[in-house]
Parts: sequence; structure tokens; C-alpha cells
Amino acid sequence: MPYKDPKDQKRHMNVYYQKRFYEKVKKQGLCIRCYKEPQGAETLFCEACRIKAREYQKQYSKKLRNAAYSAYGGKCLCCGESNPLLLTIDHVNGGGTQERKQLNGSGKNSVNRNFYLHLKKLGYPPDYQLLCFNCNMGRARNGGVCPHKELTN
Ligand SMILES: [Zn+2]
Ligand SMILES: [Zn+2]
Ligand SMILES: [Zn+2]
Repeated sequence: MPYKDPKDQKRHMNVYYQKRFYEKVKKQGLCIRCYKEPQGAETLFCEACRIKAREYQKQYSKKLRNAAYSAYGGKCLCCGESNPLLLTIDHVNGGGTQERKQLNGSGKNSVNRNFYLHLKKLGYPPDYQLLCFNCNMGRARNGGVCPHKELTN
């Protein structure tokens, strides 16, 4: 297969060997992370690695989420709520849900992770904003304007 860039060829080869290596380990029934312990029943990791990998993914998701939140000001644009557990990133034009669906992965966490990763890759574009769930919901139910705004206006 011809490659314009020799780097591409190298990358392709690495992926190829990595894949073959994984196949081999998989066939042997060994954990694809430590290659020592047997795989768990429903996973390619052993029990210890599964927990570690899950913890790592959780931390990674959290880091991505926090980075996105602080890039968008760290608090609800409408009411100033700053508890990260109450915040969500919203598409300014209301396309967020659909976009999240498009980026859907295998589970709930990966949806969020892919979404935050996507934002990071785009350099946190201004067509997103940080809102708390209340304001987000209020906006959705009130035709795109949070009821808070109407009270103050
Ligand atoms: Zn392992
Ligand atoms: Zn709010
Ligand atoms: Zn509000």
C-alpha cells in the first residue's frame, strides 16, 4: 500500500502489530493490560486492571470535564451556580443533545468523555455555554430563554 508520508506507514504498522499482539493475548485469555492475569468474565482486563482502568477513565473524564467547565467560566452563565455536579455544557443554539447523540460511544461516561474531548479539540468554541441543570431545563422549557432572565428583565 503506498503512503505519501513515511510517518503514516509507520503509524499504520504500529497499529497493525499492536492489533496482532492484542489478538494473541486475547486468544490466550490474558489481560490485555498486564498480560499476566487471566481475563475477567465480561472484559479483556483482569479484575485488578479492570478496576484500575475504570478508575483511570473516571479520572480522565473528570479532568476533561473540569477543563471544559473552567474554559467556559466555571459557573452557570445565567445564575452563577458553580457546583460542578450541577453544571452542564449547553449548545447556545440548542443543538447540544443531538451533538451528544452523534458522539455517542458505548456508555454514558464515554458520551461525556467524547463530548468534552470534542470541545477540547475544537478549542472550546463560543457556541457552547456553561449552565446549571435548572437554567438549562428552564431554557428548554421556556423556548430558549431561562425564566430567570425574564424575571430580571
Ligand atoms: Zn491485568
Ligand atoms: Zn443557573
Ligand atoms: Zn437561569
